[in-house]
Amino acid sequence: MLLRRSVIALVLALGVMCDTVDNKVEDCDLSDALKKEIASYAPVVQKIINTAVNGTFKGITYNELALFVDKFGNRISGSQNLENAIDYMINKSVAYGLDNVHGEEVKVPHWVRGSESATLVEPRNKSMYILGLGNSVGTPPEGILAEVLVVKSFNDLKEKAASAKGKIIVYNQDFVSYGTTVPYRSKGATEAAKVGGVASLIRSITPFSLNTPHTGMQTYGENVTQIPTACITIEDAHLLQRLQDEGYTIKILLQMGAQILPDVTSRNTVVELTGTEQPEKVVIVSGHLDSWDVGEGAMDDGGGVFISWGALALLKSLGLKAKRTIRGIFWTAEEFGYVGAYGYAKDHANETDNFLFVMESDIGTFNPVGLEYAAGAAGGCIINEIMQLLAPINATQTRQSPSVGSDIEIWTSDGIPGASLDTQNDKYFWYHHTPADTLEAENPSALDKNSALWASVAYVIADLSVDFPRDSTKLKN
Ligand SMILES: [Zn+2]
Repeated sequence: MLLRRSVIALVLALGVMCDTVDNKVEDCDLSDALKKEIASYAPVVQKIINTAVNGTFKGITYNELALFVDKFGNRISGSQNLENAIDYMINKSVAYGLDNVHGEEVKVPHWVRGSESATLVEPRNKSMYILGLGNSVGTPPEGILAEVLVVKSFNDLKEKAASAKGKIIVYNQDFVSYGTTVPYRSKGATEAAKVGGVASLIRSITPFSLNTPHTGMQTYGENVTQIPTACITIEDAHLLQRLQDEGYTIKILLQMGAQILPDVTSRNTVVELTGTEQPEKVVIVSGHLDSWDVGEGAMDDGGGVFISWGALALLKSLGLKAKRTIRGIFWTAEEFGYVGAYGYAKDHANETDNFLFVMESDIGTFNPVGLEYAAGAAGGCIINEIMQLLAPINATQTRQSPSVGSDIEIWTSDGIPGASLDTQNDKYFWYHHTPADTLEAENPSALDKNSALWASVAYVIADLSVDFPRDSTKLKN
C-alpha cells in the first residue's frame, strides 16, 4: 500500500481539500484543472453510452448473458458445470479480442445438496418447500422425525431452551434487512444445536414470498453438534407459528441427502484491456461466476459478470484503451464465503499498491442509479465529478459507505478505494438464492446502461492524468 505521506502529497498536488465525510459535490474543492480534465471525458462517455444504448453494442450484454445462462444454468462451487462455464468465458473473451485472458486456480468447497424433503406429519399432512443450506450435513437416510419448537428470535430460543431438546427448531424471525436478519440463516443451526435441537428450519431471508424457499450459506460453530439445516418459506413459517399458538403438537419428517465432499480446484477468470502507459496499475471490474444450485444464477451473479465482461468488450469494440489496465475478474466460489476473492488477494498481495480502484456488481443489475463507494474524502470528490458524466442515463447518484461489496470488501475494508453498482434493486431479495433467479429477472435495456456505466467509470479512472487517491484515514503505515 501507499504510505500515508505519499498520499498526503498526492492530495495536495491534486488540490483536493474535502473536509466532510459525506461527499456532496458542493463540499469538494477539486482543482479547476482536475475538474476540467474529468469534464473533458464527456464526449467519450457519451460515445460509450450511445454505443451501448442505441448503437452497435445494444442488446449484446443481455444476449450474451442469455446464451450463457441457457447453456449452463446454475453453477455451484465444486461442480464440473462451473468449470465448463469458466472455460466458456475464457473462450468468449479471447474471441472478443480481450487481453491477457486466463484462469487462476484456487481450491473451493464442494457441497452437494442431494435429494431433500420436509413433510408436516402432525397435526396434518403437508409437504413443505425447503432448500437445504450450503455446508449443511444430511440426515440419516430414514430422515429425522421430531416434534417442532417455533421461536421468533435467538432470545426467544434462549427463553424456551428448556423445551428445545430433541426438537426441530423452527426460526420464524421477522425480516428487518438482509444484513440484520441473515444471522438466523448463517448461525441458526449452531444456536439450535447448543440447546439440544436435532435440526433447524429457518424462515427464508426475504421481505416477500410466493411460497419460495431461499437457500444460502451457513457455518457450524466450533464444538457444537452439526445438525441438518434448511430454509422454509415465509408461508410455512407463519403456518407453523399459528399451529403452535393454536396449541397443536407439531411434528415434521426431514430428509436431506446433503454431503460435504473434498475441496476441488476451480479458477478465478481474468480478462484485461492492457493499459497503454502504466499497464501495471489496475482498475478492477468484477462479479462472481458461481451461483447457487437452484434457479439459473442469472441475477446472482450472471448480471454482474456480464456487465463487467460487457464493459471490457464495449471499450474494445470502440478501440478505447486507457493509460492504465482495466481488469475484469469473475470470481469463483463467492457463495461459499468469497473463496475465490480471498485466494486472489493472497496470490496478488504484493500488487495491492497497484490496485487503484476495485468495482463489483453483486446486488442486481436492474436500472442503474449510480454507485455506492468507499473512497475517502478526496476520492469521493473525484467519483462525484465522474458520475456527473452519467447524466445521459440518469445514473449520477452516489452513496458513501465505510466499505462496499462482497468479494471486493477484502480490499475496500482495507482502504483500497472501490465501488459497488447501485441500481433500482428493491426486488433483489425476492429472487435471491431461489428457483426464481432466472433470466426473467434481467432486462436488456438495464444491462446496456449498466455496461455503459461500468465501462465509463472504469475507463475514466484508468485514464486520468493522476492516480486515484487512497483513503488516507484507512492506510496502514
Ligand atoms: Zn452474489
